[in-house]
Parts: sequence; C-alpha cells; structure tokens
Amino acid sequence: MSTTKKKNSKEEGQLETENIDVLGARVHNLKDIDVSIPRNQLSVITGLSGSGKSSLAFDTIYAEGQRRYIETFSAYARQFLGGMERPDVDKITGLSPVIAIEQKTTNKNPRSTVGTITELYDFLRLLYARASVAYSYETGEKMVKYTDEQIIELIYNKFNEKRIYILAPIVKGRKGHYKELFEQIRKKGFLYARVDGEIVELLHGFKVDRYKSHTIEILIDKLVVDEVGDKRLKESIQMAMKHGKGITMIMDKDSDEVKYYSRLLMCPSTGLSYNTPAPHSFSFNSPHGACPKCKGLGRISAIDIEKIIPDNSVSIHAGGIIPLGKYKNSLIFWQIEAIARKYDFDLKTPIKGIPDEALSIILDGSSETFKLENTPLGNSSNYFLSFDGVLKYISNQESSTTSKKAKKWAEQFIKNTLCPTCEGQRLKKESLYFKIHDKNITDLAQMDLSLLSEWFGDLEQHLNEKQQIIAKEILKEIRSRLGFLTRRWLGIFISKPKFNQFIRW
Ligand SMILES: [Zn+2]
Repeated sequence: MSTTKKKNSKEEGQLETENIDVLGARVHNLKDIDVSIPRNQLSVITGLSGSGKSSLAFDTIYAEGQRRYIETFSAYARQFLGGMERPDVDKITGLSPVIAIEQKTTNKNPRSTVGTITELYDFLRLLYARASVAYSYETGEKMVKYTDEQIIELIYNKFNEKRIYILAPIVKGRKGHYKELFEQIRKKGFLYARVDGEIVELLHGFKVDRYKSHTIEILIDKLVVDEVGDKRLKESIQMAMKHGKGITMIMDKDSDEVKYYSRLLMCPSTGLSYNTPAPHSFSFNSPHGACPKCKGLGRISAIDIEKIIPDNSVSIHAGGIIPLGKYKNSLIFWQIEAIARKYDFDLKTPIKGIPDEALSIILDGSSETFKLENTPLGNSSNYFLSFDGVLKYISNQESSTTSKKAKKWAEQFIKNTLCPTCEGQRLKKESLYFKIHDKNITDLAQMDLSLLSEWFGDLEQHLNEKQQIIAKEILKEIRSRLGFLTRRWLGIFISKPKFNQFIRW
C-alpha cells in the first residue's frame, strides 16, 4: 500500500498541525502500521485488493473522527445516537471532523444529501417527533387530539339539546363477514351497531357480505345532551373510547351528521388517525417510518412492459410475449389457450387484437379458474387452473434466491423506477404529513446546508409558544451541528474498487 500526495494549489488558512498521524493501526488486516497523511492536501491511498485501504480510511480514520465528533455532543444528544467503539489504533493526531462519502454501485439515491448522511438527520427526527404539527393526508386539515374533558366540552357545545348516538368505530373499510365480531359485540351487551352507515340490530348470527368492504361502529349509547357534567355522557364516552381505541364518533340522530373525537392525532372530518410520532416514525431504515411500498429505498423494481411486448403486431404464437418465447407445448401456453377460448381469440391473433381484459389476465393473472383442454394428465375435460400471470412469474424469478440464472433472466424485463407511493421520499405517507413551518422532514433533508442554516435561523418566529419550549434544546443542538458542518471538514471519498481518495476542503 502506498500514499501519494498532491499539493493543493489554494492555501486554506493556518492549521494547528500539518499532518494526520496514525500510529499503530491494527484494524482488520492492518499490521500495526504508522502513517502520516498531510492535511490540506489531496491524498490518495492505493493498493491491491485486500491490502487494507478501507480498513485505514473507513474503519480507522473515519471511525475515530466520527467517534470524537459524537463525543462533542451533550449527554442529552448522545442518548439518541448511541456510542461508537474506539478503533484498534494507538493514537491518531491532527484529525478534524470527518465525513465519508462512499461511491456505491447499487442503491444509488439521487436524493441523498449531507443532511441525511450525518447525525443531523437524527436531530431532525427528534425535532419532528416532538414539535411538528400533523396534517391529514386525506383532507389536508390539521389533525386534532383532545383530552376526555375537552371532548365532553366540545360535544356539549356542538350537540347541546340534541339527540345523539355515541359510537365506537371498530372496522374501517375492510372486507369480511364479521360474524364472530358481531357475536363478541353482542356478548359485551351491545345490541346495535352502525354498519356501512345504517343502524342495525345485532340478532344472533348476524353477518355481512364477506366480499365487500365494511365500516362498523358499535352503538354505545343514545342520549340527549343537556349538561356538561352529565355522568352518563361521560361514562358512555369513556366506553366508546375504550372500544374505539381512543376514537369516539358522535352522530346527530336527526340530521345524521357525524363528528369524530380522539385522544390520538386524528383528522376531524374523516376520523383518520395517526400514532403519536416518535423519532423512528421519521426513519426510512425503520419499519415504523419507511414507505411500505419501497421499504424506504425510494425506488422500486417494476416490470417494463415495453420489454415484455416490444411489438404488439406479433401474435403470442409467434413469440410476441418475449419472456414466453414462441409457442411450445407447455402448461403456460395451455393456460393462455384456455383464456383465449373464453375471450374468443386465438394464439395467432396479433397481440393488439386481444381484448384488453384478456391481455390483462395473461399479464397480471386472475383468481378465476380456466378449463384446460390440453393438460398434464392428457386430454381431460375436468382440469381447471387459475393463472398467476406472466408478470408474477417474472417477479418470482427475479426474487429467486436459489437460481442466479433465473434472476438474471428476469432482470432484463425489470426497470428500476421512482417509488410511486412515496415519490422517492422514502417515508410512509403519514410521516410526510408532519410539518414544521410548512416543511416536512424530507424537505429539510433535501436542502443544502446553507439553506438549511438559513431556515433554522429564524425558526422560532414560526413556532407557537409550546413548540418553542419543546424544541429549545433540540434546536440548540441542530444549530451547533449546522455551525459545525459548515466549518472545515476532512472528507473521505471512497471510489471502489479502483482507488480510495482522501480529500479535504
Ligand atoms: Zn416508497
């Protein structure tokens, strides 16, 4: 391994020491080496694969710089960051704060900024968990959250002298017959429920259409609102909260108007609720925060239909569906023949002549069963099979862990695209609707550091008194980190596998 250096033409001011001196580095395969790297210059570490370039750059110098950086934080801050181990080295002198940027060939994220690759993001998460304002992703309204006393007060103000139903929402837009659920409700002593907007009596054996989505609320009580101190109102609200997991619904019996009240963050019009946010709600590395579609990567692999059917004037028989190739006497073609019979075309029809519905079954599959004429058991008139579709077959091959060949074959039909759910923002929808001064956490992570410093500069003016108190300590840390980040840096750029570079600017 050798170190070469190139003098930086521009002097960057006086430094305390001239070199970064590493003494007795023994991390991984490093053999107790000493190295002196000039500061304020571009240094390149080169060497054969396995000679320890990364062990020196990453696991020794970067790790130690990072560890010292974290040690400068207050005890308050460190509890959110976790400790770092000291690398196996006798001494490193002349080190300034370190940033490492690794050039990876996979999972390149064009949106990665300094804000996401330093601990700054951890503080932003903390700030958003404590001091942000939640908005409904359904209506854009500010989410609300009340104490039980406030809820009673609000109900009294809105429904005074009115006849109301107190309801506990338990199912929202989900499929099922719910026979057992209705039975449980009955056993708890409730005789009525509101099912898909209608009040129904829960007779023994009551159930709903299992293939349809349903919304169900338990009818807890019917009463006339007359005084705030009403014991029955209070008890019924508590009961509704218990069954509705913190959410109660009030319906005006005469106008059918419905209003939701919640101990949790909730959209006042739709009853959509969010969990109380925690720092992990804003982490794309945590299942609590990551976009469920792309698992926090911001991009997904999707099948590229142009590559599957590049020319729709060709028939399936002639190989128009590229992954299938030309007609063969095989199960998948027998299945497609069965689909073709049902939709009244044949395999020699050019693909553009195939009805849309049938083509979508061929590509995406169907739970419907099709009667095969050719079957693995010879000609049998009673052989039915459902069809998973060509795309499912490709994605199964792509995620194959056993066959590299299958994976490679499938990859030719797959393109890597921006995740349509989070549009590359990597977090789940609700996490993106927690805002501070009109910005969500991703907006901040994407800003460059000088803009971010500016944004934080007068943030208090845009916070209410309560937010200011909660955010005070966190803002102090963020500002000190931002000040720190805009100062001098030792940067390590790693470009693999050809060479490693040290650069300081
Ligand atoms: Zn996503």
